[in-house]
Amino acid sequence: MLNDFICPHCEGHMMVAGHIIFAAVKKKDNITGIILLDPRIGDYTSVLHPSFKVEEGDEVDFLCPMCHKSLAAKDVHERLVHIIFVDERDEKYEIFFSGVAGEHCTYKITEAKIESVGKSSEKYLKYFKLCDKYKSML
Ligand SMILES: [Zn+2]
Repeated sequence: MLNDFICPHCEGHMMVAGHIIFAAVKKKDNITGIILLDPRIGDYTSVLHPSFKVEEGDEVDFLCPMCHKSLAAKDVHERLVHIIFVDERDEKYEIFFSGVAGEHCTYKITEAKIESVGKSSEKYLKYFKLCDKYKSML
């Protein structure tokens, strides 16, 4: 099996044509759109329909395109987005990234620790320390 990303709610497959596909709502004006993200951790390239404009600092609610549930990681921080990475051995890892445009940070939860990458990764690391589920990993 190839690397894949799935929804933590419905386990629907989100990787299509080399991108992770999200439905999205820009919080400041409730405009909806589709966002395609690069699956490589640490690559923050995104593809949006030209009519869906997101500017630096805009908060975006990422939704599963299948079950339409919000992917906001409310137990850690509402601005973080939570999805599941499935590797070629079918191992699952929790992935978190910022839903704020221009904030580059990704967190990968492995068995015993949290790996963080990106220039903004310090910003949310402290919220994992406040979360019972993850604080022992830091
Ligand atoms: Zn879903």
